[in-house]
Amino acid sequence: MAGTVRTSPSGSPRALREAYDTALLDLDGVVYVAGDAVPHAVGALEEARIAGMRLAYVTNNASRTPETVAAHLCDLGIPADAGDVITSAQAVARLIAERHPPGSRVLAVGGEGLREALRAQGMSVVESADDEPAVVAQGYGGPHLEWGRLGEAALAVGRGAEWFASNTDLTLPGDRGILPGNGAAVEVVRLATRWMRDAPEPRIAGKPQPPMHRETVLRTGARRPLVVGDRLDTDIEGAHVGGVDSLLVLTGLTDAAQLLAAPPEHRPAYVARDLRGLAQPHPEPAGDAGSGFGCAGWKAGAASGELVLDGEGEVLDGLRALCAAAWTAAGPGRCTLEADKALARLGL
Ligand SMILES: [Mg+2]
Repeated sequence: MAGTVRTSPSGSPRALREAYDTALLDLDGVVYVAGDAVPHAVGALEEARIAGMRLAYVTNNASRTPETVAAHLCDLGIPADAGDVITSAQAVARLIAERHPPGSRVLAVGGEGLREALRAQGMSVVESADDEPAVVAQGYGGPHLEWGRLGEAALAVGRGAEWFASNTDLTLPGDRGILPGNGAAVEVVRLATRWMRDAPEPRIAGKPQPPMHRETVLRTGARRPLVVGDRLDTDIEGAHVGGVDSLLVLTGLTDAAQLLAAPPEHRPAYVARDLRGLAQPHPEPAGDAGSGFGCAGWKAGAASGELVLDGEGEVLDGLRALCAAAWTAAGPGRCTLEADKALARLGL
């Protein structure tokens, strides 16, 4: 929860899909990678839905409309409609509508998902800085975004338009490697407006900022939500900011070593290999820094500058014990204990 320092994963004696009413699922690295379904994701989501859990899909990617994302999910075998998808384009459009009246001119730099979300909030989408926009909205435009669009954004911000961004992820995963994300395009506009006396700062909607979490809760009506993600600095930090529990899955960008080194705002309540973790109870590590932390058959502690792990059993229970040892040693900071040998015991 926000405001407290988490020093251990939480326990849940019940399967997470029964303990929480709604899963707020990140997409890339959780449900699919480079367009293809993550192993076990389709079956795990189907079982969670049958068990009564509401499934909502929450993406920082503003380029695609909810209809397009839902169609993609259906193609993968995951039933979804547009109402089940929440994008950072919707969150930034609401943020703009709260500060500018209907009909305000917005220079949109991004894909159709951004334009549609702005129109849905009654904004008038324009294409040029010469149209005298009151607002510049930047969202991921995909590989075909023209350089000239960033020029229009820089001109309009330079003339005093209020600046918004759907999200500031600097990179995003592609099927051939890491690619520049919307945050990189935002930095281009920032560099081109450095001449201004008061350097402008964009208002940001996407994860981990509060507008995205608010948009998600407003649209789903979730009462006991569980955020499910693969990134510590967006999904898990967003849950921390919103004061809700989170599940980290290891199918995307975060590995076990990064999890152990996470500062408090990046520490999830739960960790699982993949979405099958929704169907499982999660044992809670118990112990203290002096005697070590046990979880199922494992015991973890710290000695001579490194994390140590003894025992046997399920790999994830060993990782839970290590999280408790690492996070307790780190307190409000980052754990700097060597973890390679302990993780090698788990094959992680
Ligand atoms: Mg992701």
